[in-house]
Amino acid sequence: MKSGEAHSPHSGKKLKAPDADRLRADLEAYMTRRGLRSTEQRRVIIDTFFGSAEHITIDTLLREVRAVDARVGYATVYRTMKLLTESGVVQEHKFGDGFTRYELSDDDAHHDHLICLECGKITEFEEPAIEDLQQRIAKRHGFQVRAHKHEMYGVCAECQAKSRARR
Ligand SMILES: [Zn+2]
Ligand SMILES: [Zn+2]
Repeated sequence: MKSGEAHSPHSGKKLKAPDADRLRADLEAYMTRRGLRSTEQRRVIIDTFFGSAEHITIDTLLREVRAVDARVGYATVYRTMKLLTESGVVQEHKFGDGFTRYELSDDDAHHDHLICLECGKITEFEEPAIEDLQQRIAKRHGFQVRAHKHEMYGVCAECQAKSRARR
């Protein structure tokens, strides 16, 4: 598996996918509110992003965008992803490997991440008990939660097995 790709820890158990159509509509509404024009390049970038794998980096996205329109530059992709992040439709992640990664952010399909420090694999998980606990903590502090990130860093099962085999 390529580093950075999402995969579910339990084969067969699929995490709830974000509602891309609704997020796309939210984005259009945000851009209209802010008076932002939808340029041709911006449209290509947004289309490509919505069709891409989760946890995509700017470099990978730029490569995919350039396959459609070779004129698009890094700065335009960067600025567009910044706009998507500001709109709340996209969440930005820095998993400590020096890359900024992006994925759709849907409150109704929220997941958290396990990051392997050996191979860089990113595993998504959903845990209602953690979500409930977080809400209880926030309530106790009179705090209104807009977003949260829960990340665990360590060594994945495959990397552990590999290092056991080497010994
Ligand atoms: Zn690993
Ligand atoms: Zn994710």
